Amino acid sequence: MSAERAGHTSVVLDGKAVRDQILGELRVRVERLQKIRRPPGLAVVLAGRNPASEIYVRNKVKACEQLGIYSEKHTPPDTISTEELLAMVERLDAREEIDGILVQMPLPSQVEARRILTAIRPDKDVDGFHPVNVGNLVANLPGPRACTPSGIIELLKRYRIPIAGRHAVVVGRSDIVGKPMALLLLHENATVTICHSRTRELAAECRRADILVAAIGKPALITRDFVKPGAVVIDVGMNRLDDAQAAAIFGTTPARTLIGDAHPVQIPEIAGAYTPVPGGVGPLTIAMLMANTVRAAELHTGCCA
Ligand code: NDP
Repeated sequence: MSAERAGHTSVVLDGKAVRDQILGELRVRVERLQKIRRPPGLAVVLAGRNPASEIYVRNKVKACEQLGIYSEKHTPPDTISTEELLAMVERLDAREEIDGILVQMPLPSQVEARRILTAIRPDKDVDGFHPVNVGNLVANLPGPRACTPSGIIELLKRYRIPIAGRHAVVVGRSDIVGKPMALLLLHENATVTICHSRTRELAAECRRADILVAAIGKPALITRDFVKPGAVVIDVGMNRLDDAQAAAIFGTTPARTLIGDAHPVQIPEIAGAYTPVPGGVGPLTIAMLMANTVRAAELHTGCCA
C-alpha cells in the first residue's frame, strides 16, 4: 500500500484504498464461487426505523451488489417481538443459499438482543458476535472475526506496520470494537493495554503506545498530549458535531461535522501515521463483512475452502 504524506512526516492510512484492494481480491473469489457452485448469500435484518441503521444497511446491500453477492433485506416493524424475530432468524439459519445473517443493531427496546444474536448459527454469524465465535477469537481458533477490528489489522498489515513486540493501547472495551481489537492485537504478538472510562491517567497510558486505537465515541478526546511522537493512531470513532463544537475543534480551519475520537488537527502533527475520519476505519468494516460472507460461502459449498 503506498503512503500519502500529510503536512510533516505523518502517513495518512487510506482506508478506502485498502477497502478497494480487499474488495478486488474478494471479487475473484466470488466469481469462482459463482462459476463452480453458487453466489454467496447474505441476509440483512433491519428491525424498525433507525436512520443511521438504514444508511449502514443500504451500504452493506450496495457492497453485495457490487461484488456479485446475493443479498436480501428483511425489514420487520418496530413492534416485532423477540419470538417473531427469533423465528425469522431460524428460517434464515435453515436456508442453504444464505451464508451469512446480519441483524443490524440496535434492535427495538422490547427485543432481547442477546437471544437474537445467539440464535444465529455460528457459521452464518458474519458479524462475529456469537459467543461461539467470541470463544474462537479468544482461543485464536478459526471463525468469523468482528469486522471493524479485523479491518484494522488488515490496514496495519497492508501498510506493513509492525505489530509484534509493539505496545498497543486500545481505548474502549466494547464487545464489538475494543475487546476484539485488543485480542486480535494480542494474537499478532503486540503487548496490549486496554483503557476505558475508569482508567486513571488515560493520557499517560496512551503516550506509551506505539499503536493507539481510539474506540470511544467522544469527539477529539485524543489530543496531542495522548500521543507519543511518531506513534500510529487508529481512530474508530464516528461523532457528529454541531457548529459550535466544530468551530472549537477546528479553530479557523473549515469546519467539518463528522470527526473521530482523535483530534483532527493535532494528531496529524504528532502521529507517525493515522487514519482520517471519514475515510479511515469506516470503509474497512463493510469490506470485512464481505470477506466474512465470502469465507462462509466457501466453507458451506466446500469450494476453495
Ligand atoms: P461503546 O459506547 O460501546 O464503547 C465506548 C467505550 O469507550 C467504552 O468501553 C467506554 O468505557 C469507553 N469510554 C467512554 N468514555 C471514555 C473516556 N472519557 N475515557 C476513556 N474511555 C472512555 O462504543 P463502540 O465501541 O460501539 O464504538 C466506539 C466508537 O466507534 C463510536 O464513535 C462508534 O460510532 C464508532 N464505531 C465506528 C465503526 C466504524 O466502522 N468506523 C464501527 C463501530 C463503532 P466503559 O466501558 O468504561 O463505559
